[in-house]
Parts: sequence; structure tokens; C-alpha cells
Amino acid sequence: MNKKPDRDVVGRFAPSPTGALHTGSLATAVGSYLMAKHAGGRWLLRLDDLDVPRQVPGMADDILRTLELFGLHWDGGVARQSRHRKEYEHFFEVLQHAGVIYPCGCSRKEIARSASAPHPEDESIPYSGTCRVGMQSGLSIRSWRIRVPNEEICFSDLRTGRRCQALSVVSGDFILRGGDGEFAYQLAVVVDDHLTGVNQVVRGDDLLSSTPRQIYLQQLLGFPQPEYCHLPLVVGPDGSKLNKRDNLLSHQLGSVAGREQTLLLDVLRFLGLHPPRELAGCSCNTILEWGVVNFMPLQLPALGGVINI
Ligand code: GLU
Repeated sequence: MNKKPDRDVVGRFAPSPTGALHTGSLATAVGSYLMAKHAGGRWLLRLDDLDVPRQVPGMADDILRTLELFGLHWDGGVARQSRHRKEYEHFFEVLQHAGVIYPCGCSRKEIARSASAPHPEDESIPYSGTCRVGMQSGLSIRSWRIRVPNEEICFSDLRTGRRCQALSVVSGDFILRGGDGEFAYQLAVVVDDHLTGVNQVVRGDDLLSSTPRQIYLQQLLGFPQPEYCHLPLVVGPDGSKLNKRDNLLSHQLGSVAGREQTLLLDVLRFLGLHPPRELAGCSCNTILEWGVVNFMPLQLPALGGVINI
């Protein structure tokens, strides 16, 4: 008989429809699926589609079909951030009433990027805080920023252990909303995870540096903190980060047709599992079932690696 879980785990996978899945996003999808299901929990799917200019038409659908090809069936419907603006507005106002938000007239570049999850190459120097004491006259509002404290925010990552970050050093007062009204990834993800009961966030290591910002928002809004596990990154043969053109797994391009099982087994190995030979001829569903039973968060590798397709 299965052990009754201590709590109802709710995990999720939250791709942005800015390109097809690649082996890196597949590893995140599989890792988050296995961890939630291993705990007897649910696995939700959300499309992070607030960054309209960066989206590629047809990709949302392509991502869903590709996940299905691998047998990664999500629980419930597909959530879309673009339909949750009212909720973001509400919590933005809560923070405004708490007096922690101020309008800012600086930096066009940073605002354009705030609707997307910041991956390391997007991160720049922390905001200097120029508008903290009030915007210079003549400037128009280009963003709304949240004041960050000087103290460190610490959390325990399931794979890499205790992590601490001083927001004032890494991001400074970060953007919650653009002057055009669009909400930033950092606010959207915290509100969505909370409203859908997500209590287990499993995602790529490149988002680890966003976690303290998200925990800070959770603390201000009185939301419980999910558990976090940041997975190692899949890299190219030369050790470099995959980009949007690498290792594409597109349903439309048929790029994975017939090779789903082999790839899935490679992903399990990447996640530190040792699938037996007999699984080689099995369906994706059977491979995933084996993965769910045998998944061990503590066996996740310390370093990323290559998955060839
Ligand atoms: N949508 C984000 C991305 O594709 C991930 C969001 C998250 O897992 O928090 O990078």
C-alpha cells in the first residue's frame, strides 16, 4: 500500500511559449513531474504568456502536444498567465497600500524584460535606487518598483541546500509592473503559484537567483513558501547553455517522432536515475511510471550535463 503523503503536494511546469521545448525544458518538465508524482501529488501546467512580444505563434500548442507525446499528462486544465491580470492587479494594489511600491522613470531596457523570467544572461547590475526618493520632474512612469530590504533572504533548496541572497546586492528594487501596465514575471509567478495551491516549485537552476525575490513577495503578501528544487541545466556539447535553437523537440517539426522513449530514458539518467535495460522497449507511460516510483530527489546530480538527441 502506498504511504499516505504528509501533505497534498502540488507541483507544476510553467513554460513560456517563446519557442519549442528543448531537452533542457523537457528535463525540467520530467523532473517536476516525477517529484510531484513521487510524493503522490498533482502536477499542474501553466503557460507563462505575459511577454507578448517574445512569443512565437503556435508555440503554446506545440509545447502541449510535445508534452503529450512524452506521456506527460498534467492534472486539470492549462492555466495561462495572460488570463490572470485581474488577480495580479489585486495583489499589486495590496502591495501599493502597504507602501512598498514606487513609480520609476529609469531604464527602458529593464522594463522591456520584466515580463519574462530573468535567466542569468539577462541579469544586469542591481537597480541603483534613483527613483526611491521620488521621480525627477519631467520623467514619465516607466515602471513600478518594490523596495527591497538590506537583509539577506535565505531558503533551503532541495538539491543544493541552504542559499542566501541580499536582494539589495543582486537585483536592487526590482520591477513589479511596466509603465504600460503589464505585470512582471516575479509578481505573476508568485500570485499564480499561490492561487493554484502550488507548494513544490521544481525548475531550472537558472531561475534560482529569482527565488529570493519571490520569497520576499510571498512574505509581504502572507503567502506560504513552497519548497524549492532547482534542477541542473542541460548544456551543449561544449558545455555552453542551450539556446532557443538547440535540441528542439517540436511536435510541429516532428523532430521527436519515434524517439520519445530513448530521449525520456536519457532524461531519467540525466536526473540521476538508473533505468533498467528492459525499459528500453517500453512506452513513455511505463518509463514514467518506473521513474515516479524510483525518483530520489537526493540523487539529483550536482552538475548539469549533455543530453544528445
Ligand atoms: N516561465 C518561466 C521560464 O520559462 C519559468 C517559470 C518558473 O518556473 O518559475 O523560464
